[in-house]
Amino acid sequence: MCDHKPIVTIDGPSGGGKSTVSRALAARLGFTYLDTGAMYRAVAYACQEQGVDPLHPDQLESLLETIRIELLPPAPGEDDVQVFVDGREVGRYLRTPEMGMLASTVSAQPLVRHKLTALQQQIGAAGRIVAEGRDTGTVVFPDAAWKFFLDASPEVRASRRATQLRSKGKAVDEQQLLAQIIKRDKDDRERTIAPLKAAPDALCIDSTGRPVDEVIGLMYDRVTSRPCCCE
Ligand code: C5P
Repeated sequence: MCDHKPIVTIDGPSGGGKSTVSRALAARLGFTYLDTGAMYRAVAYACQEQGVDPLHPDQLESLLETIRIELLPPAPGEDDVQVFVDGREVGRYLRTPEMGMLASTVSAQPLVRHKLTALQQQIGAAGRIVAEGRDTGTVVFPDAAWKFFLDASPEVRASRRATQLRSKGKAVDEQQLLAQIIKRDKDDRERTIAPLKAAPDALCIDSTGRPVDEVIGLMYDRVTSRPCCCE
């Protein structure tokens, strides 16, 4: 009996290249891409929209009782997954540095983690997914067959994020972005519940100075050279 599931997990701090790498790897393997960060951003967005204080357990609980979050593949010509909150596509509001900070606050709340972890496990139940996040290898899918932890220096991550935002026509203050990235990583690493960390059985890759295609190739080779007995 095999202990593993045919799942790839890619965890790491923000701006380490996880999204680009996860999307490309999923496409090459024919797996489904699961962007768990988008779910935390969706809850953050709903809190903002509905005037819910994420630090107020009763308010948060009633929001979580009714919220419906759905992820769909990107629209034609787009890169990012489509995110629906209560039936409305809100993806364009989620991918800002401010929403990233709010998502980090929201994600430290046990009620939120409980709900989203269960949803992610439900999506991954059939396997053949590439899950990207902070705790996908440690908490959400501890029995995933292939685990990676992708890191890079904060400066490189801030600069990559700045390029990404500029390509979407957004104005960027790179120093402020760097400060936000450092703060968000610290909070994500130091929280008590499901902190950002590499699973003991994850392959850690530092993408500083490494072309993205090389990182994708390295992961692809590892997955295909060690087939999961569960497939
Ligand atoms: O990956 P992304 O930058 O979209 O994630 C936004 C925030 O959501 C992270 O800073 C983190 O606080 C939270 N998150 C998390 N666990 C995950 C994915 C994201 O706590 N699996």
